[in-house]
Amino acid sequence: MASPRSLFDKVWDLHAVRELPTGQTQLFIGLHLIHEVTSPQAFAMLREMGVGVRFPERTFATVDHIIPTDSQLRPLTDPLAEEMLLALERSCQEHEIRFFDPPSGLQGIVHVIGPELGLTQPGMTIACGDSHTSTHGAFGAIAFGIGTSQVRDVLATQCLTLARPRVRRIDVTGKLGPGVYAKDVILAIIRRLGVKGGVGYAYEYGGPVIDAMSVEERLTVCNMSIEGGARVGYVNPDDAVYAFLRGRPFAPRDAAFERAVAWWRSMASDPDAAFADRVELASAEIEPSVTWGINPGQSCGVNEPLPRPEEVPDGERASVEEALAFMEFRGGEPLAGTPIDVAFIGSCTNGRISDLREAARVARRGKVAPGVRALVVPGSQAVAREAEEEGLDEVFRAAGFQWREPGCSMCLAMNPDKLQGREICASSSNRNFKGRQGSPLGRTLLMSPAMVAAAALAGRVSDVREVL
Ligand code: SF4
Repeated sequence: MASPRSLFDKVWDLHAVRELPTGQTQLFIGLHLIHEVTSPQAFAMLREMGVGVRFPERTFATVDHIIPTDSQLRPLTDPLAEEMLLALERSCQEHEIRFFDPPSGLQGIVHVIGPELGLTQPGMTIACGDSHTSTHGAFGAIAFGIGTSQVRDVLATQCLTLARPRVRRIDVTGKLGPGVYAKDVILAIIRRLGVKGGVGYAYEYGGPVIDAMSVEERLTVCNMSIEGGARVGYVNPDDAVYAFLRGRPFAPRDAAFERAVAWWRSMASDPDAAFADRVELASAEIEPSVTWGINPGQSCGVNEPLPRPEEVPDGERASVEEALAFMEFRGGEPLAGTPIDVAFIGSCTNGRISDLREAARVARRGKVAPGVRALVVPGSQAVAREAEEEGLDEVFRAAGFQWREPGCSMCLAMNPDKLQGREICASSSNRNFKGRQGSPLGRTLLMSPAMVAAAALAGRVSDVREVL
């Protein structure tokens, strides 16, 4: 009898083309998602080599990073953004790649549209030239963020050369309390294991809290695996995933869907699968969280005092001092009450319909505080349509939020949505690095969308549990 295996090992072994003398594996990639930022150079390299795209039918494109969120009318106001969009259009036409551009009605952030179109499926290998490709692991796929030269390799060969990571199982036990979300769970995991703790690992998430999550919540958890150093993060597929996929445009249909479900079930980790490492986190330890520093591991409960440099281990002191100095925060004081300038709800971490519903629950309770610039940016055109059908856009507008067109927006500000100067932003995105949101001096506080909405109404960091 075959020994029990994890989903990761099953998917990896099924997609291994061959082992290389370097010890790496040449891995077949089932789905390649591309966007305007990391593909132009890759296509240029293909042209130089006189090589075509090996599997255009496994390659799908969207535009997300540079697209403005105030108006998507062409030509785009920024000539550089327009040129990047034109380049992607030309490459997709030349290589017969399906492009979900704004007129298609299916445009959105690459990690939002893959799942919602049913392109992302259990048991797949997926690659995309964006670090947060780990998102797709929520379906039980093994998904890798790759660089431009690897985008070229996948376009040309549909294969990637990779070293096999070990698998760490992370169980989250218990039940989340009110006002505690998937974002708080992944921030707590990264805080516990560190931003480099996952280097060389794939993370398998499980346990009662993960099992009880919706697919969208699992997408949030898997999305930020890379912020903990793990290039891959996944959850074993279950009935929630199959129900999510049924009827999606690219999911199998009818009898083929039932056959697919049987196969997807077989790909889940075996009950006795061995893992290189195991970690358990109790949900009782998880509170509504906020980052106070300059990496996503520097987070704490909203009412918890920030660390004092003199009280942290020697190896962490310099980074705590640097973070507190940059943020202009003081050790020993909580973040609750910290004034904010900007509130951003969106991104591939938290720009889905369930995120907007939770934020709208809070937005219904008041008005955006004077002086706060508050943006809601749906993750895709489909999310925007669904939200508008439910009247969420009106809820946000009535509360004083701006309702924008889909895109990455202020997650990394490769478009006009940027922080100015020393502004502090309550953000539902995934990175709080210095300069991430467009101003080299801008300050980012990562939190759940409901917490961002609460901060927008109060004009300061607040405990969402007091509003709900
Ligand atoms: S929302 Fe942010 S992290 Fe996600 S794809 Fe866009 S830029 Fe990358």
